[in-house]
Amino acid sequence: MKDTSLTQFTDLGLAKPLLKALADEGYVNPTPIQAQAIPGVMAGRDLLGIAQTGTGKTAAFALPILHRLAENRKPAPRRSARVLVLSPTRELATQIGESFKTYGKQLGVSVAVVFGGVKHGPQMRALAGGIDVLVATPGRLIDHLQEKSISLDGVETFVLDEADQMLDMGFIVPIRRIVKFLPKQRQNLFFSATMPSEIEKLTGEILNPNPLKVSVTPASTTVERINQRVVFVEQQRKRALLAELFDDAAFKRVIVFTRTKRGADRVAKSLEQVGVEAAAIHGDKSQGQRERALASFKKGEVRALVATDIAARGIDIDAVSHVVQYELPNVPEAYVHRIGRTARAGADGSAVAFCADDERNLLKDIEKVTRQRIPNFDRRNDRHLGAATAAMPEAGGKPERPERAAQPHRQGHAKKPNRNHSQAKPGHRQEGGPAREGGHGGGERPAFKGPRRGGGGGGGRNRSSGGGNRSGVWSNR
Ligand code: AMP
Repeated sequence: MKDTSLTQFTDLGLAKPLLKALADEGYVNPTPIQAQAIPGVMAGRDLLGIAQTGTGKTAAFALPILHRLAENRKPAPRRSARVLVLSPTRELATQIGESFKTYGKQLGVSVAVVFGGVKHGPQMRALAGGIDVLVATPGRLIDHLQEKSISLDGVETFVLDEADQMLDMGFIVPIRRIVKFLPKQRQNLFFSATMPSEIEKLTGEILNPNPLKVSVTPASTTVERINQRVVFVEQQRKRALLAELFDDAAFKRVIVFTRTKRGADRVAKSLEQVGVEAAAIHGDKSQGQRERALASFKKGEVRALVATDIAARGIDIDAVSHVVQYELPNVPEAYVHRIGRTARAGADGSAVAFCADDERNLLKDIEKVTRQRIPNFDRRNDRHLGAATAAMPEAGGKPERPERAAQPHRQGHAKKPNRNHSQAKPGHRQEGGPAREGGHGGGERPAFKGPRRGGGGGGGRNRSSGGGNRSGVWSNR
């Protein structure tokens, strides 16, 4: 493989306005996936990228796509888009939209982000005049296709992001349906962190023969950069242990992972009770609530963001000092995803995982997958923690079930029934879920991110539509 470590963005032949935007961001050297993918994608090749978030994969597709749009300027087709990006979750869709806006800010491209749980009307109006780049979750896009409020006839480039996550969320059938709406002749960029056989099959269906293949293996490199430890502790004393961690001022901006939605609420509440500002994000929170929580976390107003795996997918926040795993995940890969929330963009980070006795097997699996022994500390039967637990107010709450879509993915592949179907049952909302995303009780939230970068959730965004950045389409044309 070519040594790409010395490559600079200026060597890649990208259009000047893109280089200017990159310079504004302070990006000089492409990451390995960017250096390897950009030239081929600029030349129009299909791409199979094996990479997870944190590798710079978003820019690896956004930059060459924007370059091609700039090279061949033409109006976006009415009720259609020139570029379609499919993302499994609304958070990731929003971040991808933001990246296109950031990198394309000098180019005058229009970007729209469409996801479920919000009103259809504004989205339909935004799409009516045509859009350059449409980022969508599969379920809501299918709704629009069925209503014929959008057509995919004008799509020149199709990006499928986080394909393995799509599989886990039951999106494979919706994706196949969407692909049928695309023109036969198109460029395809396909990203997945792992390659289970069902995903490999899908690559064969979507990609043109002989795609450029780029594989980056951040799992080990990211894992190596992160200072990790496991603490053995009784389940009921985890609250006190977490509070103790926050006594350390170095725990400045911390993501705390829980396995369940209710667990996230409870942990956030128990942090608040000991004077640590905390906010929870998960699938039962409204879009507005999530955006506000993220925005205050980014601004440093809350020290702890308590999240479930799904809610945290794709969240890209720099300078996360620590990741705490309040419970170990069922799926070993999720451990890697979780700790990857710290050590973003080359920085170092620290990760602490709590392990109760009944989680020992999960830890074993994690160590097997990551091929490492995580340094551990035994705080069981610790008198100090015992006393601290006794002194804490009750956090309340009942036993709970894990969040639906966060089901094990490894062991689940063979056994889980209906995994390729639109699984969400009426009355059960799945995050970003197919078809179910629509309408019912979705509230008054606007469907789109506005033009400001990272402009999550200033108070007014939650109310009525109309006006400036609520139009759903960002453009500086
Ligand atoms: P991604 O893998 O696309 O989620 O990107 C991970 C993070 O790296 C994001 O915060 C990007 O803004 C950042 N990033 C992407 N490309 C570069 C680059 N070439 N240099 C520095 N940071 C980058």
